[in-house]
Amino acid sequence: MHRFDVVIIGAGAAGLFCAGLAGQLGLKVLVLDHAKKVAEKIRISGGGRCNFTNRDAGPANFLSRNPNFCRSALARYTPQDFVALVQRHRIPFHEKHKGQLFCDDSSEDIIRMLLRECEQGGVTRWQPCAVAGVRQAGDRFELDTAAGPVRAARLVVATGGLSIPQIGASDFGYRLARQFGHAVVETRPALVPLTFDAATWAPFAPLAGVSLEVGIACGQGRGRGAFVEDLLFTHRGLSGPATLQVSSYWTPGQPVEIDLSPRRALAEVLRAAKAAGSRRLLRNELAAALPARLAEAWLEAVPQLAARPVAEARDRDLETLAQRLHRWQLVPGGTEGYRKAEVTAGGVDTRELSSQSMESRRVPGLHFIGEVVDVTGWLGGYNFQWAWASAAACARALAAS
Ligand code: FAD
Repeated sequence: MHRFDVVIIGAGAAGLFCAGLAGQLGLKVLVLDHAKKVAEKIRISGGGRCNFTNRDAGPANFLSRNPNFCRSALARYTPQDFVALVQRHRIPFHEKHKGQLFCDDSSEDIIRMLLRECEQGGVTRWQPCAVAGVRQAGDRFELDTAAGPVRAARLVVATGGLSIPQIGASDFGYRLARQFGHAVVETRPALVPLTFDAATWAPFAPLAGVSLEVGIACGQGRGRGAFVEDLLFTHRGLSGPATLQVSSYWTPGQPVEIDLSPRRALAEVLRAAKAAGSRRLLRNELAAALPARLAEAWLEAVPQLAARPVAEARDRDLETLAQRLHRWQLVPGGTEGYRKAEVTAGGVDTRELSSQSMESRRVPGLHFIGEVVDVTGWLGGYNFQWAWASAAACARALAAS
């Protein structure tokens, strides 16, 4: 029987970070992972450059059934704390867009940093190593692993979400939570492209590759998300940052609302052109404000209007067209699913976890951190910040116990 103070299941972002910190705080730590390669999700993140945090991350950037749960951990381990660690490891980075911090060179820099932190904490890592079962024996946890039985006073579940199963994602964390009596908030793919049925999408499918900045929104009340970001048309539907952001708020049957010109009132643009006596066709006038192929696709529905010079169009028609372009409503048929989703929304219900320590209120000594918990960040470095912050809260609590 191998004995440790803490066993962490999952050597991803949250698991490795928690292991390093807990080890450096004096605990004997084992981290194990069933995947062959360490931290594969960090490796592929941010297009290979890992958007490792967001300077402005705060509770408002996260979705959860219990929106206040993330507050404490985020306040006690901030983006600036993680930036200080990255700087200590002399990793070059830059800000790309809206507070998003990326490595200059490669995500490997972040993985190497986490592994070095683990080394400094004397952490043992077993990988690949599957876990066949977990049980409680008195105030200890016993694990049957591919490398033999293991016993520890504390068990940390850091197995992440369901996205990208080809690189190791599994439902192990949710199953373990249920085994110990925890509720799991229904999971769904998030930060994911949206798809449409073939008939709805037929007029727009030829626009695949077109991209533009839009306003986009979905949901009601506290469950509403609204963003101004880039939208990308694909053969099957919508992608790009705007779509990924709003997809986390989308539920089947709901419309997505798109403003195709969030910074310019199109009615004014068209009215001004008319007032100036423009002999340009409406399609050409509109193509000055929107990508030309998109303008064409929209005007196919109103051929008489499209073929006239703007000066001859009725104000009311211009008004109606502009309004439609600002308030395009579409009901997606579905999403591209876990194969393409960057994260999993839902997860271990936070109402039975301590927001200070990530410890179960049902089973002392059992902790859940990172994406397996029902806390889901926006696109832009927020999900890693949650991984670091929840891991730090957990590691400090482990050391203090
Ligand atoms: P993970 O990092 O997924 O780690 C979980 C680990 O648990 C894995 O190593 C897995 O192999 C292991 N595991 C699973 N099941 C078992 C089991 N049964 N037994 C043993 N081990 C198991 N977020 C950002 O903030 N910025 C980005 O730039 C970004 N880019 C992304 C790009 C892509 C393509 C994807 C898919 C995600 C991206 N994310 C990004 C999200 C981010 O990667 C995750 O939110 C983050 O990795 C979650 O950390 P975690 O430690 O909870 O889970």
